[in-house]
Amino acid sequence: MSDVRDVIIIGSGPAGLTAAIYTARANLAPLLIEGEPSSTSDQPGGQLMLTTEVENFPGFPDGIMGPELMANMRAQAQRFGTEILTEKVTSVDFSERPFRVSVRDTEYRAHSVIVSTGAQSLMLGLEPERRLIGHGLSTCATCDGFFFRGHEIAVVGGGDSAIEEATFLTKFADKVTIVHRRDELRASKIMQDRAFANPKIEFRWNAHVTDIFGDTSVSGIELTDTTDGSVSTLAVTGLFIAIGHRPNTDLFVDKLAMNPETGYLITQDNSSYTDVEGVFACGDVQDDVYRQAITAAGSGCMAAIDAERWLEANVHH
Ligand code: NAP
Repeated sequence: MSDVRDVIIIGSGPAGLTAAIYTARANLAPLLIEGEPSSTSDQPGGQLMLTTEVENFPGFPDGIMGPELMANMRAQAQRFGTEILTEKVTSVDFSERPFRVSVRDTEYRAHSVIVSTGAQSLMLGLEPERRLIGHGLSTCATCDGFFFRGHEIAVVGGGDSAIEEATFLTKFADKVTIVHRRDELRASKIMQDRAFANPKIEFRWNAHVTDIFGDTSVSGIELTDTTDGSVSTLAVTGLFIAIGHRPNTDLFVDKLAMNPETGYLITQDNSSYTDVEGVFACGDVQDDVYRQAITAAGSGCMAAIDAERWLEANVHH
């Protein structure tokens, strides 16, 4: 059983990297499987890789860029001996111990597993989205804002993400129209006020995006009014979708208990315990309430301590 590790961590956002820092410092020699850089939705480092300025992570009074914060956490995890694999987990077997975590043909075994696979952006479900993503359509202002210098663009959504993205995009775009399906925003008051005060931001209330135009690149959108059903078009060459998130739990269907509607993993109150003993979950994959970097990091710490104590009681005694 010498190839059986104490702990494998799946996912490398603030939750996974904090779990890595703590388990590494507890001499558990964690293996962290961080994901593949190919994707814009579940890339290593998680959602903060798609964020600009983070102003609310304690310890950074002047703010810090999301990708820089994640690079710091990763370096901190490595400093204490975390082994990092830049691959995507393809399957897991939690039916017996040691647990098995596979990356294509390679199988890794561990006494405990910490799941921190996070969440990703929701899409509108329109046919052209697939074709136009990366061609004027984006879910990440940080990644793609630069390409929209001088453009007129639209952002869909009324939450903090939509307002944050729209505000950021005004650095590049001539005009940003926020399209929201209701007549009031969900975003926090301070972010609303910033957007209302920004002369480059306009609002289109009570509207759904019902079509996206353009063969090779976005050339406009169709809007349908939610109050009277009237249809109009808006000529934009960029469209950013910021309507919320979905947890990355496809790997765990029928393997871990999850909310049947939302897919978020279920953890026991005040702990990171899943319904499988020895498997712990932390961060956005099990949190649809707070969804903050700092709460994800906090729950990563909880998972590390839970795993450490569980290993002590069940494996190393
Ligand atoms: P969110 O708060 O769930 O907001 C999603 C928005 O998209 C809502 O306004 C919703 O409309 C709209 N929406 C949902 N599905 C839609 C659809 N199919 N078509 C059109 N519109 C749709 O998501 P979020 O903005 O991504 O924020 C998630 C969490 O992260 C929140 O807790 C937020 O506070 C936090 N966050 C914080 C910051 C920050 O503090 N810097 C930045 C980003 C996010 P309704 O309002 O009508 O439901």
